[in-house]
Amino acid sequence: MSINKENLNTEYPSFGNYPKLYPSEVKHWSWRHIPPNFSSFSAKFLPRGFGKSYGDSCLLEGGILLDTTQMNKIISFDRESGIIRAESGISFDELLNFLVPRGYFLPVTPGTKHISLAGAIANDVHGKNHFSAGNFGNHITKFELLRSDGRRLICSPEENKDYFAATIGGLGLSGIITWAEFKCRSSPTPYFYVENIKFRNLDEFFEINEVSEESFPYTVAWIDCTAKGKHLGRGIYNRGRHAEVGKDNIPNKSPKDGAKPFPFEIALINKATTKMFNLLWYNKQIRKKTKGISHYNPFFYPLDGVGGWNKAYGKAGFIQYQFVVPLASGKETVRKILEKISSSGLSSFLVVLKTFGDIPPSGMLSFPMRGITLAVDFAVSRNSLALCRELDVLVNEGGGRLYVAKDSRMKGADFRRYYNNYEEFSKYIDPKITSSFWQRIQEK
Ligand SMILES: Cc1cc2nc3c(=O)[nH]c(=O)nc-3n(C[C@H](O)[C@H](O)[C@H](O)COP(=O)(O)OP(=O)(O)OC[C@H]3O[C@@H](n4cnc5c(N)ncnc54)[C@H](O)[C@@H]3O)c2cc1C
Repeated sequence: MSINKENLNTEYPSFGNYPKLYPSEVKHWSWRHIPPNFSSFSAKFLPRGFGKSYGDSCLLEGGILLDTTQMNKIISFDRESGIIRAESGISFDELLNFLVPRGYFLPVTPGTKHISLAGAIANDVHGKNHFSAGNFGNHITKFELLRSDGRRLICSPEENKDYFAATIGGLGLSGIITWAEFKCRSSPTPYFYVENIKFRNLDEFFEINEVSEESFPYTVAWIDCTAKGKHLGRGIYNRGRHAEVGKDNIPNKSPKDGAKPFPFEIALINKATTKMFNLLWYNKQIRKKTKGISHYNPFFYPLDGVGGWNKAYGKAGFIQYQFVVPLASGKETVRKILEKISSSGLSSFLVVLKTFGDIPPSGMLSFPMRGITLAVDFAVSRNSLALCRELDVLVNEGGGRLYVAKDSRMKGADFRRYYNNYEEFSKYIDPKITSSFWQRIQEK
């Protein structure tokens, strides 16, 4: 059968749409009790969720993508303990629709709810509450891992501990997660008490952050990366906690959910529009501080409100540069990086700054460490790729590392230095599984 490569990439790109790498075939797996016949596979494969990873960790050029998103059933839920077991392709959106009316919430969530349970495990994702709750993997109690030789391993902190640690943050390489179980946190309502505080520079960010982490479990800041000089690192600090019945004024009707589609496929994000956006966004909040009650959708998932916004970067796609640096060197590194970005003329409309706490991760290759993390979007161009190489030098000097879920360009030597469990991890890779990311980082 001939393969229409254009269509494959349209249906199975990465979120940043860069690099463009085509699988030879896509297979779907929908019945967890009946495994695929791996011995009939003509090439290596990679399990795939919703493709919300930005770069090539969810791609496999010339190989088979095994789409697991049709395995999306809830298997069991214990109302007392809040432990839920579900098939691995279920989305966070579907989980929230089930959990929230029952008074529970996800223990950790990234900035989109359109990811799969397995994708959240394979990248050991973090959210606004890293300092208070750790990564998603810290809340996993058990999962089943299917290896291509047909073995089904039950993995938990007690059973098959090594596979447990290799699979959390294991980039889908240790086998296919068929179902997983995790502990939810209680949340009496779908609402959050939220405060937004304008800060004038980086020093003010660190002052606000220090006091906020004492009383708010969720914090994050948006940065205006076009600001320079005494305004360098200015932005809006966002902090929140679960709303409390009797204390907070909770609306009795939920707002309508549903993303407005992004209407164009042309590059609308450029130097002029980004500068304008940063200026308007910083100044949209006139008062120093605002507060209110927010539904979980705008609080956690503001970008999900604009369906397909990633297309605004145009056909060349975009990259998200996300690094973490240890606290000691972190402030200086972040300052130098923001200076480099603002003087490069390559601005970004999405720049997010936050701190990670010191809860040890469960995975061998988990990204977060105690420190400061910054995520910046850039349209792909020769200039932005050159800028990223300059930023790499600063991240490396600061003892930091880059996040694989967002990556499409880090060097193999850097990866192996950042993730020093790399050799230990390699022992657990399934011989029939690989990814374009994994192949790339073997090279240099
Ligand atoms: C708007 C946006 C905001 C984001 N915000 C954050 C954030 O705040 N924090 C954060 O940590 N991340 C964030 N991310 C990244 C995202 O959470 C991760 O990339 C996540 O892993 C994507 O899940 P997915 O289902 O789309 O998986 P994919 O991208 O399809 O795959 C991710 C990995 O999971 C593996 N995998 C998929 N299914 C299986 C399976 N059944 N068994 C074994 N492995 C499997 C794949 O092989 C791959 O290695 C964000 C992404 C977007 C688009």
